[in-house]
Amino acid sequence: MKTLPRILIVEDEPAIAELIAVNLRHNGFQPIWAMDAATAQKELDDVLPDVILLDWMLPGESGLTLAKKWRSGARTQAVPILMLTARGDEVDRVAGLDAGADDYIVKPFSTKELLARIRAVLRRRTPEQAGGQIQMGDLILDADTHRVNFKDQPLKLGPTEFKLLQYFMSHTERVHSRGQLLDRVWGDHVFIEERTVDVHVKRLREALGDAGAMVETVRGAGYRFTVQSVVVRTALSGL
Ligand code: CA
Repeated sequence: MKTLPRILIVEDEPAIAELIAVNLRHNGFQPIWAMDAATAQKELDDVLPDVILLDWMLPGESGLTLAKKWRSGARTQAVPILMLTARGDEVDRVAGLDAGADDYIVKPFSTKELLARIRAVLRRRTPEQAGGQIQMGDLILDADTHRVNFKDQPLKLGPTEFKLLQYFMSHTERVHSRGQLLDRVWGDHVFIEERTVDVHVKRLREALGDAGAMVETVRGAGYRFTVQSVVVRTALSGL
């Protein structure tokens, strides 16, 4: 099963939060509502959302302050932030983007606009959430049908291995620590042991067969997904 993208709504006005939550739920998202900064922080500490909708005008810490804080935090820095603001003038928009927001929406906004903005930041930040096909060499992953093929042969992957492969194929050639993989693939690093990652990487390699070499272990750092190894191996076996 594909997990629904989690959207954290940080908004102090219940009527607006409720309206957004209902619309998100109807459109395949999982909304979580936090009415103030402290509740929002607690939610972030528990489970990382896929997108944060952040109201500018909050009691206590302002949305702007929160955006800056989360953008500079190691755990939260990659989570897309969409600022919700009643202010439309350019100085404020620039301040929001400077604080690290990915985009902003001026209230009142339509559901259609909100959904379009959310999907756009998801595509930019986490292409694996956007669906569609990813191809690397002979390896093809289809997020919509949940199928993986290598050299036109279907591969059998468990749900976690599928999500892991989807993440790897969307973020190739760089090293991911076990903690980062837990945050981005499992959605949390708090309750799961890092050893769990190794178990699923091993299963993924086995399921991939000849393509398993694409998942490299980087000693002391984590894992990297690369096309290089397969290219080299194929070249050598041709000698
Ligand atoms: Ca408000």
